[in-house]
Amino acid sequence: MKSIRNGVFGHIVGDALGLPVQFFPREDREREPVDDMIGYGSFDLPPGSWSDDGSLTLATIDGLTKSFKENYDENEEKNLNEIIDYEMIMENFSRWLNEGEFTPYDFAYDIGGATMDGIRRYDGGCEAIMSGGIGERDNGNGSLMRILPLAFLIYSLSQKYQISMEDRMEAVHKLSSLTHRHIRSQISCGIYVNIALEFIENFENDKGRDLEGLIDNGIKNSMRYYMEDPSFKDELHHFIRVYIDIQSLPKDEIKSGGYTISSLEASIWCLLNNYNYKDTVLEAVNLGYDTDTTACIVGGLAGIYYGYEEIPEDWINQLAKLDYINEIVDEFTDCISSINK
Ligand SMILES: [Mg+2]
Repeated sequence: MKSIRNGVFGHIVGDALGLPVQFFPREDREREPVDDMIGYGSFDLPPGSWSDDGSLTLATIDGLTKSFKENYDENEEKNLNEIIDYEMIMENFSRWLNEGEFTPYDFAYDIGGATMDGIRRYDGGCEAIMSGGIGERDNGNGSLMRILPLAFLIYSLSQKYQISMEDRMEAVHKLSSLTHRHIRSQISCGIYVNIALEFIENFENDKGRDLEGLIDNGIKNSMRYYMEDPSFKDELHHFIRVYIDIQSLPKDEIKSGGYTISSLEASIWCLLNNYNYKDTVLEAVNLGYDTDTTACIVGGLAGIYYGYEEIPEDWINQLAKLDYINEIVDEFTDCISSINK
């Protein structure tokens, strides 16, 4: 599954591109746009440094790999939630926060508030899938930025047996809930994973479909599911701009702060208004504010769609701990690629 490499590197490169200018407003980027991997700035770290977004994505990949090794049985059809060990993934998150595992320099930095609270609740004895906050203010982009790896596992398993939409969405929502348990955060992740699945299916089967159609399918598939289940009803109006026509909105209507809806909207908007990986992620960075997270959320999808070869090689080669990232990605890829054999 080549799309795993596409998506993970697309994501982590976006994180590293945005990190040096995180928190700075859009006006700064309009005056001085980012057009390359720069480094230093907000966190005073060298070019290629990735942050919490990359770390928690790698921690999720590692947790999914271990879950798969422990729970997958080729002779027994299991639903997704019998395979994924959410406690194991949360344990990785805790080791990231407390011990600096899955980081470039052996310490955790750029830690989101809701993520910190969720991990602290887990460390205090809370069940992993109940650890995320459920307040209206807990809807930052902290689960959206690390949800992508699940799409690869779903796709891979679906090559062997039917994964129902209910099963798929339950896994997405539980994985979000480790740190972000509010329904709005869960829906954001659900829409994102469904778009990612369209991109993965398109790439893996070399279908060459246009990006607009795939995004539209991903959004409509997920919204159909949410509309049929009354428990999501009160939240759906927050997603109206995503559902209707986000592409045509002017840039000044696209927010790029830390709110999950803003990040989802900005990601789709950047994808639809650009035509290659490089322009797509740079557009996300140059929206300003939560630059690393917006760029990694869109970068993961752009990486899958355009392919690893379209990510500037020079950017990949500058990533901190490149060998380490490769190891985690390769192990996950080998593991879930064995499903079809
Ligand atoms: Mg970050």
